[in-house]
Amino acid sequence: MKIELFSDLNQLPKSDLLVFPFWEKGESASDLGRFKSGIEPILKSGDFKARNGETFLCYVEGLRIALLGLGKKSDVNSESLRRAYSAAVRLAQLKKIKSAQFVCIEGNHTQAIFEGIFLSNYAYNKWKSDSFHEVCVPLLETIGLIGTEAVRHEALFRELQVIVSSVHWVRDLVNGNADDKLDFVLHEIKSIFSGKKVRVEIFDKQKLEELQMGLILAVSRGAPTEPCLIQVSYEGNPGSPEHVVLVGKGVTYDTGGFSIKPTEGMLTMKCDMSGAAAVLGTVRAAAELGLKINVTALAPMAENSIDGKSYKLGDVYRSYSGRTVEINNTDAEGRLILADALAFAVKNLGPSCIVDVATLTGAAIIALGDDISALFSDDQKLCDQLLSSAATTGEALWRLPLVADYKDAYKSEIADTVNSGGREGGAIKAALFLQPFVGVVPWAHIDLAGPAYLNKPKHYNTSKATGYGVRLLLDFLRQRAGHR
Ligand SMILES: [Zn+2]
Repeated sequence: MKIELFSDLNQLPKSDLLVFPFWEKGESASDLGRFKSGIEPILKSGDFKARNGETFLCYVEGLRIALLGLGKKSDVNSESLRRAYSAAVRLAQLKKIKSAQFVCIEGNHTQAIFEGIFLSNYAYNKWKSDSFHEVCVPLLETIGLIGTEAVRHEALFRELQVIVSSVHWVRDLVNGNADDKLDFVLHEIKSIFSGKKVRVEIFDKQKLEELQMGLILAVSRGAPTEPCLIQVSYEGNPGSPEHVVLVGKGVTYDTGGFSIKPTEGMLTMKCDMSGAAAVLGTVRAAAELGLKINVTALAPMAENSIDGKSYKLGDVYRSYSGRTVEINNTDAEGRLILADALAFAVKNLGPSCIVDVATLTGAAIIALGDDISALFSDDQKLCDQLLSSAATTGEALWRLPLVADYKDAYKSEIADTVNSGGREGGAIKAALFLQPFVGVVPWAHIDLAGPAYLNKPKHYNTSKATGYGVRLLLDFLRQRAGHR
């Protein structure tokens, strides 16, 4: 993909589409140059209201022009601009347009505009046969950005390209077939991180047995693929004691095990490694940007499948931490593999804080829908930083309480705990299950079951994998590194 920056409308090369932004009620949000007289009658007609994300296609001076609505000027923010500009990309995709130029509004909005355009310029076309090529979503191959702010921020564009390509990479990982998911992830890690200042370690099944990671091993017992624990470390500030550990749930496919899911519930379950993909994508971006931070991504990878060897309801398994778990629901497997990874991080990695991200509970989707992830933490500073990153990036979080009384749901008569506390308050209870495996290290848990994977496109996210978490966590790392 080619990116071109122009300071004004005068030296534009010809493209297939030129996009002009407008505030609601038709007030131009940029200079219209020689196109003014051609556009004005449309604005006067009232056919185009410039509501946020509204588009109107027309021809002026032989050029195809899209009028783009930004909504009310008083309501403008980064997220409204991301959403508005993504609507123009959708229009270009609908018209199978290959090159487009976007006029940017003045002010400190360049990053949001860029994100809106580039995050939506994604498609997962891998499985479309050539004969069905016409149903592929076409991508813009040349993108022009027009405005003095745009030109001034060339370095920012290079940075944002790294971030967006990491988001797209995560989407590819999550959208991949469950059957080859683990091979695909391992192959990608080796090719992406080779030669970079990043240390990759894969703990295979034998190593997990040596380490006595009884919960990761239990979850994967019925699977055709062996489990592993992926550790990717980037040391961007060797002199600093700060070490952020990001743990991501990597269930490559979740049938629910013997507590089997119905068809509907299983349809999207190749996305159950979205947390793992997000933490790997975050470290990829942090390393490529050279952030001054030490960060490790830890991704326990396992398939929750059904077989005679599958882990059993009523059985007890011993975790890496030593805590024993009676299984009362084999579909509550994500917390099991996370528990081993969290305990491993605490014992071996010297974390200054841990953030885990996981498509952990349907209850989080029921509570918050697919726009917002649930945040849990007893550490106020960590919460403040993560909520600030959520506001900056538009990857929304809402803090839910860790209700101590609900821990009673985990009492077991034969082990230290059961693994499921029941449906009511399920997202909170899942977080409470994880808490003892972390102990006193500052820790936050993000349940991204809603935003990680969508059934249809929404704003700048295409349908299926969204890559949610990368921009949020990267901004969080920037805060920890003192970059903002
Ligand atoms: Zn499950």
